[in-house]
Amino acid sequence: MLLLGAHTSVSGGYHKALIKGRKLGLSTVQIFTKNQLRWVSKPISENAAGLYRKALSDDGGIKLVLAHGSYLYNFSSPSHSLVEQSVQSILDELERCAILELPFLVIHPGSHMGSGESDGIKRIISSLERVLEIDRGNTTICLETTAGQGTGIGYRFEHLREMIDGIGSGRTGVCLDTCHIFAAGYDIRTRSAYRSTIKAFDRVVGLKHLKVIHLNDSKGGLGSRIDRHTHIGEGAIGIKSFEYIMNDERFKGVPKIIETPKKAGGREMDSVNLETLRRCAGEL
Ligand SMILES: [Zn+2]
Repeated sequence: MLLLGAHTSVSGGYHKALIKGRKLGLSTVQIFTKNQLRWVSKPISENAAGLYRKALSDDGGIKLVLAHGSYLYNFSSPSHSLVEQSVQSILDELERCAILELPFLVIHPGSHMGSGESDGIKRIISSLERVLEIDRGNTTICLETTAGQGTGIGYRFEHLREMIDGIGSGRTGVCLDTCHIFAAGYDIRTRSAYRSTIKAFDRVVGLKHLKVIHLNDSKGGLGSRIDRHTHIGEGAIGIKSFEYIMNDERFKGVPKIIETPKKAGGREMDSVNLETLRRCAGEL
């Protein structure tokens, strides 16, 4: 069973994301549980949760729904108040995930804003440790690999390892984003480069921690540290890498989500990118 999906943000209720996903023939969908650019959102109403549950059980085709966290969080900031605001906000988001029974919440670890990587990583560890002590749900927080733009943490596999070890909870995992690791300098364009990058990931982080894969091609070149996603096969990564990933037995049960641009010249592109990936997997 291919767990292939798209990030789907729609207004007017979570159930609409499922309906959209079904139209695209998806088995998994990534959603925002609240406006990703606002600190405070209305609680989930009984009605919205009910509509969502009904759409999920009516559907049958969608096996897994996961969340992408707010863009405002920065657990690595030297500003105490920003870290505190991020902690309060992710606690709210985890409650939303519990209501919707989402197994994974993907977040960007944060940016140290010039205060240094080592201190930045320490702040991420202590704040997420606290979050997971307070929260009583079951959602796993997946730290995403990043491109290393600006002062972002998470562009080295070692960062992820340090954070997972430091937080020391069974409720952390990793989301590997193809665009981000490539921009961070990990090559996956040839079979041998792909093999050695995944081997390095396994050695440093451990494949058992890999919970989600984001499939995006990259506008920026290898090691450019530019986080710009583009259509599958049309960027600096190229189609071969996606064939390796889609056929890698080790990733069979891992949800694979596209976050590619939604449109190109007025044309809806999710169906095009998903078809490309299904072809890579030998399903078409
Ligand atoms: Zn991503």
